[in-house]
Amino acid sequence: MPVEREHCQCQDTQFHFLERAFESLQLRAAQRELLLSSFRETAISIPLQTHGSNGGELQTFMGYRVQHNHARGPFKGGLRFHPSVNIGEIRALAQLMTWKTALVDIPFGGAKGGIAVDTSQMSQHALEILTKRFAQKMAPILGVHQDILAPDVGTNPQVMAWILEEYSKSHGFTPAIVTGKPMELGGSAGRLEATGRSVAYITSKVATDMSLPIKNASIVIQGFGNVGSYTALHLAAMGSHIIGLSDARKGVYCKTGIDISLAQRHVNETGWLEGLAGTEPISNAELLELPCDILIPAAIEATINCDNADAIKARLVVEAANIPITHLADTTLRERDITIVPDILANAGGVLGSYYEWVQNLQEFPWEEDTVFKRLEQRLSRVYQQVRDLAKQGKTDLRTAAYELAIGRVNKAIALRGF
Ligand code: NAD
Repeated sequence: MPVEREHCQCQDTQFHFLERAFESLQLRAAQRELLLSSFRETAISIPLQTHGSNGGELQTFMGYRVQHNHARGPFKGGLRFHPSVNIGEIRALAQLMTWKTALVDIPFGGAKGGIAVDTSQMSQHALEILTKRFAQKMAPILGVHQDILAPDVGTNPQVMAWILEEYSKSHGFTPAIVTGKPMELGGSAGRLEATGRSVAYITSKVATDMSLPIKNASIVIQGFGNVGSYTALHLAAMGSHIIGLSDARKGVYCKTGIDISLAQRHVNETGWLEGLAGTEPISNAELLELPCDILIPAAIEATINCDNADAIKARLVVEAANIPITHLADTTLRERDITIVPDILANAGGVLGSYYEWVQNLQEFPWEEDTVFKRLEQRLSRVYQQVRDLAKQGKTDLRTAAYELAIGRVNKAIALRGF
């Protein structure tokens, strides 16, 4: 997809969703402008000598960190490595983090970062240098009480460990500068699976409210990375049949349900889902249009759009990815009576898990895994009830209700602090 189109689509979608909530909250134009503005947007270039098969080559990568709003606490948000990363996308994702942290009521603001890079074309060594240079150049705007990073698309605990190392060179050992890091360096029990586990939990809650039994429900999941794989694993453990899965390359289909542990092993060994035993190949486009009870986009933005919204057959769509549905597709799905669980609710378990990790680092007191999962479920259950009740009360959709709750909290904090 051309960068410019992606740039507009992400921001446009976010803007339309916000407008619905701004109207209900009757916010003035000046309040809206402040809520939509980034606090700071930083763009850096990172030159790197890579060593390809045809010898050394100098490449310059662009890196970004957008700090959207910190009215309720330090900036918090993931770091993405993907070829299509651009400032518009990162800006929209940073905003989304502000609403997400406010919705789950944790003392953070919102930020997002990224490097436009195709990690499949780089050695681990080159990736380490690139990450450390990013951390070195961004260090002045980061901090345990200023801005904390986490994994996102294309990054993982190892990338967080490199950032921790680079930052600690000038600040002393500082595990709380990143979340989603390896356990050996102060990572939290349960953080790796926190997002997927929470997506599964929220899916089961919403399905129950729709009188759609999660046991035996047929489910399709797009994206089999951190979020998609743990979502699949937990839903399969609840008795659902995961009939379709996909990654950036291709999809796989099995009418009676895919063995998720086998899929994980296959991906660990081969890197891709393609060729998974007991499944038929399917394209990403066909996957999204499969007849099923629940569809879970868990890959990247805008995969459900004007081209396929009319063909979606699920009763429930759960946004495990950030901004996977464009605003026009959102309207089409709602008109077709398809329930949508918005990203800021569906995948909020990730940042909640990150918050618990940060708290443990600050206290230098690790929690047991059970404690992490119990707190996650208690908080998510409360937030879902608040959103559901507000949606019923205001006769509106779950997304607008979630945005109303979140924006109301950020707006209140801005007023109290006198921004
Ligand atoms: P990941 O890099 O671990 O996995 C991404 C998956 O999507 C991979 O299987 C990849 O092959 C696939 N993919 C990429 N492009 C695709 C395309 N065009 N079509 C189909 N599949 C494609 O990333 P992740 O951490 O699992 O994140 C997935 C989504 O969840 C992102 O939107 C991210 O922002 C969001 N999210 C992640 C977390 C987290 O804790 N990791 C938290 C909240 C939200």
